[in-house]
Amino acid sequence: MIYTITLNPAIDRVIHIDGELTRGRNNTVSNTAFDIGGKGTHISVVLSALGQPNIAAGMVGENRKDELIALLREKQVESAFYVVPGQTVRENFVITDDSQKGSYMITHAGPVLKKEDLEGFAKNFIKRCNPGDIVAVAGNPPKTTRPEEYEWVLRKIKETGVQLVVDASGPYLKAAIQAEPDLVKPNQFEFAELMQLEINSIEDCIAAYQKSELSKIPYFIVSFGKDGSLLFYNNLVYKVTPPDVHTVNDTGCGDAFVGGLVYGMSCKHDVRKMLKFATAISASKAMQATSSGFDMKEAGEIEQSVKFEYIEKTGRNCNAI
Ligand code: ATP
Ligand code: MG
Ligand code: MG
Repeated sequence: MIYTITLNPAIDRVIHIDGELTRGRNNTVSNTAFDIGGKGTHISVVLSALGQPNIAAGMVGENRKDELIALLREKQVESAFYVVPGQTVRENFVITDDSQKGSYMITHAGPVLKKEDLEGFAKNFIKRCNPGDIVAVAGNPPKTTRPEEYEWVLRKIKETGVQLVVDASGPYLKAAIQAEPDLVKPNQFEFAELMQLEINSIEDCIAAYQKSELSKIPYFIVSFGKDGSLLFYNNLVYKVTPPDVHTVNDTGCGDAFVGGLVYGMSCKHDVRKMLKFATAISASKAMQATSSGFDMKEAGEIEQSVKFEYIEKTGRNCNAI
């Protein structure tokens, strides 16, 4: 089975304003919609859209949990969350307008998870895990959770023999590395923060990786937005490049990308197929307005034009494969 874990899910209230959002005047709402917020849940949406059975797990506040579960069900995602008594699922506001200048995101911090809550979740969740399952933990926990607690949860999950995938940032990414997941996918800024180095090029990225002890992570992938990604695998470096696409909204491309990677892992595809497919799915996502939608037919066409190259450790291209 594939499980995704979101430790701080949200309900996104997406509000569209007529014209341009302006201070000091009445901004009229022309449309309100609700969407699922939280990276693990977005990965589940991608997997379900690909027809891959999966369960969205994690922790939810007891209030408003039914709304979140119903939103997931609308996208054919089955869920099994650990319910935190007395807490409420956070609501985020996404404000869009007609200005074409991008959206405003206003977020709540989320519940305060006690150590007992995290322990309760972990002990309960690992009962489901079997060797060979894939568990993708994505998005940070609420800020009140200490990185050591997060690392403890990841270690507990890893000990069950599952393949562990992590997408986290800041101190949680650093803590996650200690738990030695099988696949980690920071973007270039998250990787730069982890390494405390400036990363402005592929050469910088490779040099930073070589200074690190990250070779213990079987699949280490750094993503560079529209410029694609670098895969560090089996002591080799590969560069994956999507074709130029008409970008409408690149929010959520990382989640679509990780969803595609998890899909490839679950189908036991080789790294070339896995990365090309994930890159195509995420490029198709960039062409859509919603934060977790993509078009399967379009992704299939894009996949034909994704470049997968072996790179010398100096950063120079070696050959396309
Ligand atoms: P998120 O905001 O969802 O967390 P991220 O910053 O973690 O995203 P990105 O590096 O932005 O992740 O994107 C992940 C992958 O999606 C990239 O490696 C690339 O393959 C693809 N991608 C992102 N933006 C574009 C784009 N504009 N055009 C084509 N492909 C894109
Ligand atoms: Mg990005
Ligand atoms: Mg990301």
